[in-house]
Amino acid sequence: GETIGILGGGQLGRMLAMAAARLGYRCHIYAPEDHSVAAEVSAAHTQAAFDYAAGLSAFAADCAVVTYEFENVPVAPLAALGEVPVFPHPRALETAQDRLNEKTFVTELGGTPAPFAPVDSPEDLRAAIAKIGTPGILKTRRDGYDGKGQWRIMSPEDAEGLDLPDQPLIYEGFVHFSAEFSVILCRGQDGEIRYFDSAHNRHEDGILALSTVPAPDAITAQVPAARELAAKVADALDYVGVLTLEFFATEAGPVFNEMAPRVHNSGHWTIEGAVTCQFENHIRAICGLPLGSTELAADAVEMRNLIGEAANDWAEILKDPANHLHLYGKGDVRPGRKMGHVTRLTFD
Ligand code: ATP
Ligand code: MG
Ligand code: MG
Repeated sequence: GETIGILGGGQLGRMLAMAAARLGYRCHIYAPEDHSVAAEVSAAHTQAAFDYAAGLSAFAADCAVVTYEFENVPVAPLAALGEVPVFPHPRALETAQDRLNEKTFVTELGGTPAPFAPVDSPEDLRAAIAKIGTPGILKTRRDGYDGKGQWRIMSPEDAEGLDLPDQPLIYEGFVHFSAEFSVILCRGQDGEIRYFDSAHNRHEDGILALSTVPAPDAITAQVPAARELAAKVADALDYVGVLTLEFFATEAGPVFNEMAPRVHNSGHWTIEGAVTCQFENHIRAICGLPLGSTELAADAVEMRNLIGEAANDWAEILKDPANHLHLYGKGDVRPGRKMGHVTRLTFD
């Protein structure tokens, strides 16, 4: 079979590689770690070493197509690859890896994010708070995930003592939402789009804890508008693969939070809970194959993340035939680290 290159060595890469293997592909992982959980299930592993750009072109030369499971990778060397197709296109990566870019882009397409303003100095922050008000959240524009690089600002005084990090920031108004949900779609090379059911996502300490399908009415009523925006984003980027948009359900309709140009934690339930999971559909899309059905494969699905949990009573979990256990093979347990997840399927 042909070789797929995956940038990033985390659990998303691991699950992509497992889906690719089922379709007869080999995967090569490009990651800076000596040892990654994705490389464990893949044909080969290349360290990014010291020169990411130079290493990347050698890596890509062995691949029929290159994709990514992590958005915080340098765009320029990817865009310069030339011969080897990169899906989703590096432009999607460029848009999504900077919160200011993605919010501006989505606003131009008719979407509604929380009010926002770029912050590069204490004066900017004061001006942003004067314009947008409190409470709000100050976030790094780049590199944040699982709520890292965020500061909640409850009053203008909160901002005064802050030791601002030396990187571009964005201040956004706090959204009073009734629930959070995501739109996960897959777009093929011919432009066909398929949507997975939107999960109701619950976060704890800024980290996704629980996703459930079907979502309550407060969410399903807002899914059509959210899908319409997601399709505009996908079409505008000539997107190929799985794309995720996170939303807040509010009285005024769906408020866009952020996008991820990749498979997403809130779609892990699709491995057992949909006819074709997000990982397989991503592989199908980037390889130019027909997309698989995104229909539900159960009446209800619940996906719970195992966060910072070392040992657990796996036997107890596995005794229940409704449960599907996924462990990512991460050696060191740290607070807030995603170690695995459990998906529960139920049938009426
Ligand atoms: P991810 O791991 O999803 O990439 P992230 O670090 O990019 O996370 P965000 O999605 O920006 O972080 O925020 C994490 C969570 O914090 C959100 O899912 C939501 O629960 C809360 N949150 C973020 N921004 C806002 C906001 N403007 N108003 C209200 N809650 C917010
Ligand atoms: Mg994010
Ligand atoms: Mg998020």
